[in-house]
Amino acid sequence: MKIKYINLNRNYDKTKLYKIKKLLFIMSMPVLVGCSNKNSYQTIEPIEITKNIEPIKEDKNDIVKIEEIKEDIKESIESTSINEEVTDKKIVALTFDDGPGKYTEQLVEILKENDANATFFVLGTCVERYKDAVLYAYENGNEIAIHGYSHTSFKKMTIEEIQNEIDLTKQLIEESGAESSNLVRPPGGNINSKIVDNISSSFILWNIDTRDWEFRNVESIKGKVIDKIEDGDIILFHDIYKTTIDAIKEILPELKDEYQLVTVSELFELKQQEYEENKKYYKVK
Ligand code: ZN
Repeated sequence: MKIKYINLNRNYDKTKLYKIKKLLFIMSMPVLVGCSNKNSYQTIEPIEITKNIEPIKEDKNDIVKIEEIKEDIKESIESTSINEEVTDKKIVALTFDDGPGKYTEQLVEILKENDANATFFVLGTCVERYKDAVLYAYENGNEIAIHGYSHTSFKKMTIEEIQNEIDLTKQLIEESGAESSNLVRPPGGNINSKIVDNISSSFILWNIDTRDWEFRNVESIKGKVIDKIEDGDIILFHDIYKTTIDAIKEILPELKDEYQLVTVSELFELKQQEYEENKKYYKVK
């Protein structure tokens, strides 16, 4: 019996997973009907089902070969990371500061509906009030990172005070049941080299500022994103304003076909870069 020629070339193209699934289907044929041809790598002939089907003869060599092929397919599936499946889309990180607040859970729903995730740079004082929202955001694939406890400018605090704010906020996040990221966004983006050098965190700034706290207007927020957005951007929003939520509801459907909307950590990962402590970042190109 002959089976289809199977090319186990490792250089699968973008439709790799589809091909693998197809291969698995093809491979199931000889397994079901038994493989008696020592050289399995030949062109197929249509199998005619007649009344006189010969008893299946097992051939150890063929079984070994199929096991090897299965192993090969398994390896290919394992090496096919999410990255490879999505590389044709541009990637940007969505970030929300100053929450959680009363709109956060609604925002999480909108993110879910649009296959998007975001990093929430939360304030300790808000985590105390909206613990459930933190956990809800986290459980839905979003990243919970640190914006400080009191929203005091880091430039107005000592290194020790900044560290205390970071530690306390981290502790509160973890008490909510969520995992805290080590990423920190300084309130107001206020930071200097002394803070960067002395606090063992990665500081995440942004390169697109929607100014949603200033212009509480859906069109204004939309324009600031849609007109400027590029691959690798980090976009700043605040999830404590209703207009921001309304704008997100309109922005995400417009972006999702062209962009993969992810957390900051995912942006680094998908760009195959690692963030380091004592460094600040505005975008990931
Ligand atoms: Zn802030």
